[in-house]
Amino acid sequence: MMKDPVRIALVLPDLLGTYGDRGNVIVLEQRLRWRGIDTETVTVLSSADAVPEHCDLYVIGGGEDVAQVAAVRFLHRGPGLLRAVDRGAPVLGICGGLQVLGTCFTTGDGEQHAGLGLVDAVTEPGDGRAIGEVTTHSTLGGVGMLTGFENHLGRTRLGPQAQPLGRVARGTGNGHDNAEGAVTGHVVCTYLHGPVLARNPKLADLLLEWAIGEPLEPLPEPPELTALRTERTRANLRNRK
Ligand code: GLN
Repeated sequence: MMKDPVRIALVLPDLLGTYGDRGNVIVLEQRLRWRGIDTETVTVLSSADAVPEHCDLYVIGGGEDVAQVAAVRFLHRGPGLLRAVDRGAPVLGICGGLQVLGTCFTTGDGEQHAGLGLVDAVTEPGDGRAIGEVTTHSTLGGVGMLTGFENHLGRTRLGPQAQPLGRVARGTGNGHDNAEGAVTGHVVCTYLHGPVLARNPKLADLLLEWAIGEPLEPLPEPPELTALRTERTRANLRNRK
């Protein structure tokens, strides 16, 4: 087991962090503590010089177009995040975070912006905002069903270097090819707010395993998630009759 605390970078919560995206970091910290693993969170505000390169896991939330453009300018200033990804550090990007980590994105005003190119994904405005609950089936082994809340104008097309995080069962997701989110290596992006890791602890544990480089002991499922799954199973059975 790693002796040093696991360092989690919360990147630009003052710009990107709608719908409680900061909660994803609280979930990661708590799931480590429950297993007796020390953790330290590095909050990178837009007043900082750059993103530090030596954290074990990076979390970026979503936000409005204006905040997103300010965020991408900040991220282009230094190589910290790119270097961290090169060494295999996992990154979680939510909604606006997905768009910023992609190849390029066009905001609602028609302006095109270069993204960081960490996932093979291009975003353009859709016909209207996609708003509401989303359910997907994850393409990542062991993660299973994912749920969350989406609110975005952008629609995202994946290139050959990215796989979707999930296949949409309910909601819009990327708005192309029944895909939701984007995964390239250990960079995991999704339109799901929620915060997504509170609603989907298996995804939280997968990111943590990538961060520490070894498997984690399973934890009991929170009772509210068990109740939700049981209710879904009952509803599915009812629909089949
Ligand atoms: N501004 C982006 C869009 O509307 C992202 C929104 C978000 O992060 N919720 O597509």
